[in-house]
Amino acid sequence: MNTCKLCDNNIENKGKFCIYHNNALDNLNSGYVIWKNRVDYIEREQYLKTLLEISTTGTLVKQVIMDELGR
Ligand SMILES: [Zn+2]
Repeated sequence: MNTCKLCDNNIENKGKFCIYHNNALDNLNSGYVIWKNRVDYIEREQYLKTLLEISTTGTLVKQVIMDELGR
């Protein structure tokens, strides 16, 4: 069985993340839709970088962001 790209948990679906990181990715994606509506338009990369700077952003979410930004 494959393990998550970001931690040692097993992957139970076809994705590259475990259920916890997949859940964080879902939150990230739904949050982006809300942000785009709120601020007119924001680049996804800008959105991700902004979230990284917010202290209340969860660790799991930040790990997913780092991966998306290729860091
Ligand atoms: Zn994981």
